[in-house]
Amino acid sequence: MALVTRFAPSPTGPLHLGHAYAALVAHDMARAADGRFLLRIEDIDRARCRPEWEAAIFEDLGWLGLAWGLPVWHQSTRLPAYTSALNRLISLGLCYPCRCSRSDIRLALSAPQQAGPDGPTYPGTCRARPMLEASATDAIRLDLARALAFLGPRPRRFSETGPAHAGLHAASEEWLLTTCGDIVLSRRNMGTSYHLAVVVDDAAQRVSHVTRGEDLFEATHIHRLLQALLELPTPVYHHHRLIRDDRGQRLAKRDDARALARYRAEGASPADIRRLIGL
Ligand code: GLU
Repeated sequence: MALVTRFAPSPTGPLHLGHAYAALVAHDMARAADGRFLLRIEDIDRARCRPEWEAAIFEDLGWLGLAWGLPVWHQSTRLPAYTSALNRLISLGLCYPCRCSRSDIRLALSAPQQAGPDGPTYPGTCRARPMLEASATDAIRLDLARALAFLGPRPRRFSETGPAHAGLHAASEEWLLTTCGDIVLSRRNMGTSYHLAVVVDDAAQRVSHVTRGEDLFEATHIHRLLQALLELPTPVYHHHRLIRDDRGQRLAKRDDARALARYRAEGASPADIRRLIGL
């Protein structure tokens, strides 16, 4: 089976050195194995995505010398696939509609919490609401305890090849319940969520190796759980280091100073970029 990797940016700002690193890791892994490298535009958040940022992604990656398999998938055109995955989870009786705002959730939590891979663990305020009550302005959440009971002892391990955690990983039920909780499957007015869309698309695109930053390592336990529930194959994961600024902070979209376009305008070459990020 051919090795397939992907780079999956959201067009919400300029690509910076961290994105270049993520794209090059995915690209180089596919090239070394004579596999395929895909580019997927993760544009489900229509309010934050802009066509000019998407155009800049193509320009930056082309300048870096990357070539990707066609067609390029856009998550904004994939809503029917996410809806059908969501409907499957709904028909299993594992979902409920949630009308809580972020501040409702903050207020309902008795103590401030460290955010897990889906934000602060949801306190369960709406858990008893039936799906029949769902309206377009509700989010849809997974009832995690019910999902775990449904899965029973089915395996939820994933194989990791990244340098920091190489090996097989499985999250305990307790960790999932306390750190992830009832994750959002469909955001208000969006029809899906990052977790659901990424799991559905990685399977539909037959991605065999998911490479991404180690900040998403915990989220992979959520993705593995969704794969088990939806009976989708589990890729191999490779979480790579993050590119940090001089103060050790990971780069964010607002770090225009590290934007690839800026380096390019200042005369840097793609080889300089590889050198800068230690490739
Ligand atoms: N769009 C996501 C990001 O840019 C992709 C993460 C992933 O690789 O799953 O963080």
